[in-house]
Amino acid sequence: MRGLYVDGSWAPTAGARREIRCPADGRLVATVVEGDAGDAATAVAAARRAFDAGGWPATPERERGALLLRVADLLVRDRDAYATAEALDTGKRLVEAEYDIDDIVSCFRYYGGIAGTEAGRVVDTGRPDAISRITYAPVGVCALITPWNYPLLQASWKVAPALSAGNTFVLKPSELTPSTSILLMDTLTEAGLPPGVANLVTGTGPAVGAAMTTDPRVDLVSFTGGLATGKAIMAAAAGTVKRVALELGGKNPNVVFADADREAALDNALTAVFLNSGQVCSAGARLIVQDTIHDAFVDELVVRAAEIRLGGPFDPKAGTGPLISAAHRDKVHAYVTAAVGQGAVLRTGGAVPTDPALQDGSYYPPTVLDGCTTGMDCLRDESFGPVLTVETFSDEADAVRLANDTVYGLAGAVWTSDASRAQRVAGALRHGTVWINDYHPYVPQAEWGGFGQSGNGRELGPTGLAEYREIKHVWQNTAPAAGYWFPR
Ligand code: NDP
Repeated sequence: MRGLYVDGSWAPTAGARREIRCPADGRLVATVVEGDAGDAATAVAAARRAFDAGGWPATPERERGALLLRVADLLVRDRDAYATAEALDTGKRLVEAEYDIDDIVSCFRYYGGIAGTEAGRVVDTGRPDAISRITYAPVGVCALITPWNYPLLQASWKVAPALSAGNTFVLKPSELTPSTSILLMDTLTEAGLPPGVANLVTGTGPAVGAAMTTDPRVDLVSFTGGLATGKAIMAAAAGTVKRVALELGGKNPNVVFADADREAALDNALTAVFLNSGQVCSAGARLIVQDTIHDAFVDELVVRAAEIRLGGPFDPKAGTGPLISAAHRDKVHAYVTAAVGQGAVLRTGGAVPTDPALQDGSYYPPTVLDGCTTGMDCLRDESFGPVLTVETFSDEADAVRLANDTVYGLAGAVWTSDASRAQRVAGALRHGTVWINDYHPYVPQAEWGGFGQSGNGRELGPTGLAEYREIKHVWQNTAPAAGYWFPR
């Protein structure tokens, strides 16, 4: 029985169990420990001891980086096992899970590769007898809390920089998708990570996650998930003034001008929103299309959306998989129903599939809601499902206004063949990532995160490492002499 990984081994627990079932067909995937606040405290204590003992924080950063590179190699070796576990937990297509594992490998390689390449800076003091250095120290014990849509990918964006910087951590994966995080603990141990540096507790957010966010022995909370949970975590962490890094949701605009490459824009508009059944924080869920091309563009998009085939992880003909749970599917359907009630025009989808082959899974079809206008709830709230809303704009200023009309600010795209307009619009969008004539690609070298209520801090890139570092100023007087500020 796995679920509580403390001090380098799987701890036996007598407590409750949870069955993990594949959302594609309900099959039993795993049975894991249902941890509680006591388990969280045990894991935090181990991480605290490992940090305070000083072995890992004092390990040269270059050596910590070498360990991350070994982790990457082991992930490549075990790619099939990881991808299969991820696909079974999430229901996503195996090919998408394989992409995820490749991205995770890239993340470990990036942070392994840059480890030790930069150790702070020396400041000019204006004095020949004084050296002023800016150096880095690990923050301490990190609570890493992750969601179910990209379980190990989101964990890797936290685990790799946290380890590189010399921290210890407790990881709490989503209660629905713990399998690959469990596998990662074995991989870290095989790569040579000392006991107590990496710890894991499975269980729910309210039980395990909440205990971690108030524990005074935790120095930093890094969270990826929904806006409401992010706010609760920020408030909980305030009691002990923890560092908090939040990667929350998005209501991401995909702006298409009339002069865009039509085929590329159409194809990417589908990928933008329907990849992973729309369960993507950066999903291009708001199509904002120029009025002169609206009819032809949306007509074609609707035809193509209706052709996307639903199926399980190992169905080679499936274009997309199920939603994470029946409860989530019900929420998405309620969102669509409410949008139609407010005047949105349902062009395709919008009903739970009746296909007998899909009855054991939580499937929902690609759905297009046309005729959406400012003020509708569907333009404000995330569906976190395969639902595209369509708005129209008349000119560039109108497009920018609509694209920025959200409390979020995670990602967005602009499609145009006019290079200077592309730059103008990209500059005007208040979103953390902007794609021009593309949607979704990212690299671990580039920062990821949101403006506004999409969160604070950044993951990936050098800033993603800085999140896990304290900055220290060290001043050395090389020729100490009495200054007689207070003469005797
Ligand atoms: P949640 O916010 O519900 O959960 C995320 C994680 O937080 C889970 O592990 C959850 O535990 C845990 N949690 C829940 N309540 C608490 C609490 N009080 N204290 C501490 N931890 C808690 O999000 P979902 O898992 O439902 O993920 C979907 C949401 O995440 C979407 O809204 C999406 O926009 C956002 N997201 C954002 C991303 C980004 O990069 N900005 C990336 C991916 C998702 P439990 O196991 O009980 O669920």
